[in-house]
Amino acid sequence: MELLDKIGKKATKTYKVTAEKTSKLAKETKLKIAMSMNKSNISDLYEEIGKKVYEKYIREEKIEIKEELLELCAQIDILASEIEEARAEILHLKDRKQCFHCFYEMDIDAHFCPNCGIKQTKEEEIRENQEKQEEDEKKIEENKELVEESKRKETQISGKEKTSKDVEENIELEDDEIV
Ligand SMILES: [Zn+2]
Repeated sequence: MELLDKIGKKATKTYKVTAEKTSKLAKETKLKIAMSMNKSNISDLYEEIGKKVYEKYIREEKIEIKEELLELCAQIDILASEIEEARAEILHLKDRKQCFHCFYEMDIDAHFCPNCGIKQTKEEEIRENQEKQEEDEKKIEENKELVEESKRKETQISGKEKTSKDVEENIELEDDEIV
């Protein structure tokens, strides 16, 4: 009876481990599918960006695409960060983690990165993320300024076009005078 009990317990334990493994594998598969979907969405966005740039080239700079490009790039940023999150989750499932600073892979319990030596604590990570966020916000502000600036330049260019036409007319007049 005792032996049977033992076998029973062992079987339950093995079953639990297997079930855990299976659910981990299922999670990993789901994450990998999500990652590859995001990657293909990013490729589509790259294609769209390419089309926009080509369209601008064909139409000889007469269209403003900067804002659209920023929008598309922002979408890529979001998808890329989702890919990064999924990658981190997959690592976590394998009891591994990535250094928040240099992205080196290490054991989930490691306190220091074996590659760059940075301490792997939540506080450090939060601090680094805050710095990154501030940098990103600065970049967004700079991009907004770029858009504003290109709009200003656009107005200046259309102004210049008029002037060069005026110059042409003036030249024609001068030619008439010579004749
Ligand atoms: Zn590191």
